[in-house]
Amino acid sequence: MRTSVVVIGAGHAGLAMSRCLADRSIDHVVLERGQVANSWKTERWDSLRLLTPNWQSRLPGYGYQGDDPDGFRTMPETIDFIERYAEVVSAPVETDTAVTSVRSIDDGYEVATNRGEWRCRTVVIATGACNIANVPAVAEAVPTSITTLTPMQYRNPNQLEPGGVLVVGASATGTQIAAEIHRSGRPVTLAVGEHIRVPRVYRSKDIKWWMDVAGVLDEHYTEADDIVRARSVPSLQLAGSDDRRTVDLNSLTNIGVKLIGRLVGINGCKAQFSGSLLNQCTLSDLKMIRLLNTIDEWATENGLDSETDPPHRFESTRVEASTPLDMDLGRGEIRTIVWATGFRPDHSWLDLPVLDRKGRIRHDGGVVEAPGMYLMGMPFLRRRKSSLIDGAGDDARDLSTHLASYLDGEISPT
Ligand SMILES: Cc1cc2nc3c(=O)[nH]c(=O)nc-3n(C[C@H](O)[C@H](O)[C@H](O)COP(=O)(O)OP(=O)(O)OC[C@H]3O[C@@H](n4cnc5c(N)ncnc54)[C@H](O)[C@@H]3O)c2cc1C
Repeated sequence: MRTSVVVIGAGHAGLAMSRCLADRSIDHVVLERGQVANSWKTERWDSLRLLTPNWQSRLPGYGYQGDDPDGFRTMPETIDFIERYAEVVSAPVETDTAVTSVRSIDDGYEVATNRGEWRCRTVVIATGACNIANVPAVAEAVPTSITTLTPMQYRNPNQLEPGGVLVVGASATGTQIAAEIHRSGRPVTLAVGEHIRVPRVYRSKDIKWWMDVAGVLDEHYTEADDIVRARSVPSLQLAGSDDRRTVDLNSLTNIGVKLIGRLVGINGCKAQFSGSLLNQCTLSDLKMIRLLNTIDEWATENGLDSETDPPHRFESTRVEASTPLDMDLGRGEIRTIVWATGFRPDHSWLDLPVLDRKGRIRHDGGVVEAPGMYLMGMPFLRRRKSSLIDGAGDDARDLSTHLASYLDGEISPT
């Protein structure tokens, strides 16, 4: 089979690209190993809600149409939203079609799938940034009496044995799962490394609203001080809920979750934790203040001070004077460990020399170091918002413009 563009992945990023290609009458196909919105259907826990408000899902040709723009979608609502988008843009999706290899041929690429081969001049990789849960190497040393699972395996607390739980990682995923498990009656200890603290609501407005209007999320990859670092920072410590509550370390301490430093090793039955908890929290508090300062300055410059509550600051993260540096995993107090230590993409099917030594695709703002190949949906791909639903539109518009010029021969393939 032959087409001009093969888009791999029918999440919102691949669908946004499909819409932009259709706008330019560029023939293409979207290959999806499962169904549309597969990641949301198969890889998320039951209670997850988007941490971006409903209004913040502006895709090319589609957006939120309900009467609760400031609410936060549940998983069924998120799936429904993305499925509807595929319908609205009439995306040419081939479902149950897993790409098993992509290799270059004379005039483009050969894309092999479980349902035959496609030949095309250009490829858009929109297979997602979160295909594999990161599990640290220390996991191998966990005593066999303890059950371990990743956020992709976790669905709800009922699947866990009674008893204590160690959640490793305190970004959005770890803090949300820690709160839910603790509320189920299982005592939770949360191992805290680098994290980014933000309030849900600031000066009567959602933090995402401030970050949007103040242009924080539009920061371009060429403007970032250190783009390699910017692309690897953890997700914001945020959760979406009806009561718009802030889920941060203080709120977890308030319900009884114990905080401990970053997990650094397991020796025999002894888990060892870094003594950097206080430093990590102080740094995170400082970064939050810096963000709030940016917002306050922007609000004053743009005449919003009278329309919103006055600036204020939040209580510092409370950390016990001496948190333990080790924990005996052999005593039976911890029955389960959840690795909330981030996610990474899976590009193992890509038979091209475009990966760096860490297995990341080498690209310049989504233009991959292979002629006619593009990447979507990665953190800070072109803008700070690139990995969010709301970020796919601008990236798809930019990259489809580049792709169209490439097909027209205006951009040299070398
Ligand atoms: C826990 C969690 C919470 C998040 N919360 C939010 C949020 O609140 N708001 C927000 O804006 N963003 C959120 N995100 C980030 C982001 O929106 C999601 O990661 C989103 O799923 C990325 O969209 P995507 O289209 O890039 O990738 P995906 O939705 O992952 O889509 C990629 C598609 O490619 C398919 N695929 C993969 N490999 C192959 C292959 N070899 N062949 C064929 N098909 C393949 C997959 O099945 C999948 O359907 C969250 C992410 C996670 C992990």
